[in-house]
Amino acid sequence: MTIGIWVLGTQLSTEQAALKSCANHKEETPVIMIESQKYAAQRRYHQKKLVLVWSAMRHFAATLQNEGWLVTYRVATDFVTPLRDWVEDNEISELRVMTPSDRAFRSFIHNLDLDCQVSFLPDNHFLWSTEDFQQWIDNRKRILMEDFYRQGRKQFNVLMADNQPVGGNWNYDQENRKPPKKNLAVPSPLNFPPDPLTQEVIEEVKSLSFPTYGEIENFDWGVTREQAQQVLSYFIEEDLPNFGTYQDAMVTGEKTLWHSLLSPYLNLGLLSPEEVIHAVENAYYENYLPLNSVEGLIRQILGWREFLHGIYHWADANYGERNWFNHQQPLPDFFWDSTQTDMNCLKQVLQQVESTGYAHHIQRLMVLSNFALIVGVSPQELKEWFHAVFIDAYDWVMETNVIGMGQFADGGVFASKPYASSANYINKMSDYCENCCYHPRRRSQNQACPFNFFYWDFIARHREQLQSLGRMNLVLANLRKIDPEELAQMQELANNWREKHRPDS
Ligand code: FAD
Ligand code: SF4
Repeated sequence: MTIGIWVLGTQLSTEQAALKSCANHKEETPVIMIESQKYAAQRRYHQKKLVLVWSAMRHFAATLQNEGWLVTYRVATDFVTPLRDWVEDNEISELRVMTPSDRAFRSFIHNLDLDCQVSFLPDNHFLWSTEDFQQWIDNRKRILMEDFYRQGRKQFNVLMADNQPVGGNWNYDQENRKPPKKNLAVPSPLNFPPDPLTQEVIEEVKSLSFPTYGEIENFDWGVTREQAQQVLSYFIEEDLPNFGTYQDAMVTGEKTLWHSLLSPYLNLGLLSPEEVIHAVENAYYENYLPLNSVEGLIRQILGWREFLHGIYHWADANYGERNWFNHQQPLPDFFWDSTQTDMNCLKQVLQQVESTGYAHHIQRLMVLSNFALIVGVSPQELKEWFHAVFIDAYDWVMETNVIGMGQFADGGVFASKPYASSANYINKMSDYCENCCYHPRRRSQNQACPFNFFYWDFIARHREQLQSLGRMNLVLANLRKIDPEELAQMQELANNWREKHRPDS
């Protein structure tokens, strides 16, 4: 009987469950890794994402080989052909795979017609197993991230003293919403010039025959575990002290501010959530870093990341198709080409995504997703776009973040109201409006900012559904105070804008 292991592209850790299960006889255990062109062609992925994933896979295959595993690495048209050949050539009787975090990929493996038994091992790249999350959520009256996060703090003993939160509070979010000041000294992100292996992948991606997105020039993401660990150390030293305070700020030309840039590495398995949380917690005790920053970062990973992963596996398989507001507008073309918009906030963020594949949370939520929500873009089309263009995007993180948090298309499974906002928020939290041809305080007159007329159009269109949420009463009361003539003007501006931005117009 021969056990073989298939290591998927998001499972690049020697501690992952399938490799761990055979670690004592690696010299006799065949391991396969496959790059599938068909898989990569299913959407217009960012070129830098393709380079990151494929280069990280090739580097990881070399690590496994150096450790003594029998590694087969295939660049193929699809997954099935090399898999079948490898099973036959190595007389494999059991194929072991760590359960993929993406539901559709698990079904794909499950339905493969292979000449051996297929065993799934539980995914150990998250702190919470799907079973434990299910137990936590069962019979709860309310599904709140804050409750889940507090449970996680206790369960994993993070920032706790005598069963109480360190510092006396669970959450320092109110200290983490400072708008940007002028002339902030922002550290530049750590970057890694491509080594020969990455250079090879860059050349291959440049010559792909299917459509892709974004710029490949100046690729500087890390592609190995060592580099990912350097990013973590650099973040703790240079960025963490200010991370909390300016977490929500947006500044022209500053692509990363004090954000960690850890999501691509966490999502590929190059870093584990435990090691990030412990390193950040240690920095608090050893280097006396500010608690609002330390707690803020830990909440992102122990709280939001684990919670949204848990919700993805707990929700029904049709969660990704939900559309509570019945939004059907097509995604404006400029999402694929930033030169086609004159709205400065969108232009800045889209240009940044084109060049790096990255935007920070508030740019994703309050600029890109917010705009699509108030315009009425189809949540599914938006989800496809996010999945294609972001360097850290995978199915599990798309459904909950885009369908749930960003678009409220699930009707509020875990959020109590939609993240919809007028230009006020962007004007307060960024410097984008200073250089825009629209006026952030106008909503119906000349140069009215589209975020304003679309916001009131959205509230008016969905007033009955929003009423049912309870938490929108103040906004609905403000809607009633708007002169009906002005509201009609805003609705006309919104309709004209939609007409002008139809993909075929
Ligand atoms: P930091 O701000 O430094 O935060 C630290 C870490 O916390 C991140 O690396 C990430 O691992 C974790 N985290 C924080 N919030 C979330 C969250 N809501 N969901 C999951 N992890 C979280 N995250 C992705 O990993 N991939 C995506 O494709 C993705 N798409 C998103 C789309 C939308 C519409 C929204 C609103 C959020 C999305 N997020 C996604 C979550 C979050 O924006 C990114 O994780 C974060 O911006 C990554 O940058 P960072 O590593 O510098 O994060
Ligand atoms: Fe964006 Fe409106 Fe501000 Fe222009 S004025 S940057 S469109 S929010």
